Amino acid sequence: MKASPADQKTLLTLQGIDTGVQRATYKAGRLPEEARITELQRELETVRVSHIEKVGVREDARTELSRIESDVTVVEARIKRDSDRLQTSSSAKDVEALQSELTALQKRQGDLEEIELTVMQRVEDADAAVAESESVRNGLQELLDEVVAKRDAQLVELVAERTRLEADRASVVPGIPADLLALYEQRRSRGGTGAALFRAGTCGACAIALTGNDLAAVRSAAKDDVVQCPDCSAILVRTEESGLS
Ligand SMILES: [Zn+2]
Repeated sequence: MKASPADQKTLLTLQGIDTGVQRATYKAGRLPEEARITELQRELETVRVSHIEKVGVREDARTELSRIESDVTVVEARIKRDSDRLQTSSSAKDVEALQSELTALQKRQGDLEEIELTVMQRVEDADAAVAESESVRNGLQELLDEVVAKRDAQLVELVAERTRLEADRASVVPGIPADLLALYEQRRSRGGTGAALFRAGTCGACAIALTGNDLAAVRSAAKDDVVQCPDCSAILVRTEESGLS
C-alpha cells in the first residue's frame, strides 16, 4: 500500500486521539470512588438494619411503659375507692376485708412503681441508642453523598473529554485516504495499536527494536510505502524523528 508521508503522519494524530478516548473510557470505568461508594453503601445498609432494630426495641419499651402506667392508674383508682369506702363503712367485716384488700393493693402499687422505674430506664437507654445510630447513619449518608458527588464530577469531566476527542477525530478522519484508514481501523479492531511512530529502529506500539532484515526492509522502503511492524502489525509511521535518513 502507498500513502504520502503526510497522510501517514496524520495517522499518528488519529492514534493520539483514539488513545485518549480509550484512556478516558478506562478511567471512567475504574474510578477509585466506585469501590468506596460500594463499601459505604454496604456500611449504610448495616447501620440501617441495626437502626430499625433499635427503634423496635424502643417501641417495645415505650409500649411496656404505657401498659405499666395504666396498671398503676387502675391500682391507684382502686386504692382511692377502697379508702373512700373504708371511711364510710360501719360493718366490721367489710372494714376488715377492705383493709386486707388495701394492703394487697399497696403492695401491688409498690411493685408496679419499681418495675416502672426499670422500664423508664430502658426507654431512656433505647432513646440514646436510637439517637446514636441516627447520627452514625447521617454521618455515613453525608460521606456517601460527598463521594458520589466527587465521582459524578469526574464522570462529567471524562464525558466532556471524550466528546472533545470525538469531535477532533471527526475533523481528522476525512483527510485520510480510505484504504489507509481501513488498514488502521482493521489493526485497532483487533485490539491493537493502529499506527505508531518508528523511532531509533523501534516500534512505538510494541516497543520492540527491529533488527536484521526487518530493519533493512523498513530502511529501504520508499517514503510513500506503508510499512507495518513485523511483531505487532501496527503501521510504522516514519517521520524526521525516525532517524532513517
Ligand atoms: Zn510493533
